[in-house]
Amino acid sequence: MDIRSHFPILQQQIRSQPLVYLDNAATTQKPQCVIDTVNQLYTTLNANIHRGVHYLAEECTARYEAARGTVQRFINAQQNYEIIFTAGTTAGINLVANSFGNTFVHAGDEIIVSEMEHHSNLVPWQMLCERTGAVLRMLPFDDMGELDVEKLPALLSKKTKLLCVAAVSNVLGTVNPVAKIIAMAHSAGVPVLLDGAQGLQHSAADVQQLDCDFFVFSGHKIYAPTGIGVLYAKEKWLAAMPPYQGGGDMVKTVSFAQTTYADLPYKFEAGTANYVSAIGLGAAIEFLQTLGWDYIGEREQQLLRYATQQLQGIEGLQLFGTAAHKVGILSFLLHHLHPLDVGQILDQQGIAVRTGTLCAEPVMQHFGIAGMLRASLAFYNTEHEVDALVKGLLLAKKMLRA
Ligand code: PMP
Repeated sequence: MDIRSHFPILQQQIRSQPLVYLDNAATTQKPQCVIDTVNQLYTTLNANIHRGVHYLAEECTARYEAARGTVQRFINAQQNYEIIFTAGTTAGINLVANSFGNTFVHAGDEIIVSEMEHHSNLVPWQMLCERTGAVLRMLPFDDMGELDVEKLPALLSKKTKLLCVAAVSNVLGTVNPVAKIIAMAHSAGVPVLLDGAQGLQHSAADVQQLDCDFFVFSGHKIYAPTGIGVLYAKEKWLAAMPPYQGGGDMVKTVSFAQTTYADLPYKFEAGTANYVSAIGLGAAIEFLQTLGWDYIGEREQQLLRYATQQLQGIEGLQLFGTAAHKVGILSFLLHHLHPLDVGQILDQQGIAVRTGTLCAEPVMQHFGIAGMLRASLAFYNTEHEVDALVKGLLLAKKMLRA
């Protein structure tokens, strides 16, 4: 299978060099079928959903609701109304922090997050704690980048209202033992929010099997358009939570005296949804399903092994995140060189990597550094591209006189 031919952007030259795109943890490129879906919608079908009685409105609504069904089957939610379309992972977490948080979290209560969370799964909880007087507790990771799960029982108590953890770290690549964490939390009566932003890019998620209470992800990290994401929550939580935002589409009746809210899932989908990207997400999921998780997982692990070996061969390169179970995310420093300088030299070679704090400053603080470089792999990358990265890094060493 010529997988790269599905991704037009990968055929490009950048700075007169073939593009080597190694920033997949930030966002993934889009296959032609997703681009065509979006294009076709704007060319022939666009109309606002849930409002019109005309053909275009009805057709768009049907496609939007079909996409909800595609997501439901993809993550194996029990009900389609447990799938709330959001703008992305960040929007989903903020929805939970406000709606669930303002209802169930009070002064003196506790929220647990891990030390390796993306700012998206940390700052909304800090804001909640500020609003309510609740306290944030932290589950640490060790120097390999593995969560110290043995410390969890001591953190869990009657005060704990929610545990929030990433399925996969966007810096360390660690695949966290979420089934074990969820079981431990539940045995203490604590619900769990799983940040699936990085996890769902690399492997399946079955929310019923995991038994997580909340699961969030972003479309753009799983080959779908930007501006769309999903919040899955168990029906019992969604039913007990008040709406987060008010507006059109989330109401049943409105008068100055009283407003009643729409049923699930619409109670949580105020305003015009990003129906084009939602339908695009459906197309991306169907594309992933034709590839299959076995192919994706095996190919990415093959690339990860090769890239790890090659990077470790570079004198002065320090890898961060060496967990036994990890995805194709390689974060590193090269000697004392500033990540930005190295990143710019790579860019001159047409190589796209991420530099800086990677939206996870506490992880930088753990290692006592200001930032890193990150190469993140997708199934469409090649060994040849890993070789180009190595060559680029050797050139950076030479140019910066490391
Ligand atoms: N959590 C993790 C683990 C992430 O990697 C990211 C994106 N880098 C997010 C949350 C936030 O996703 P988004 O910006 O799409 O809302």
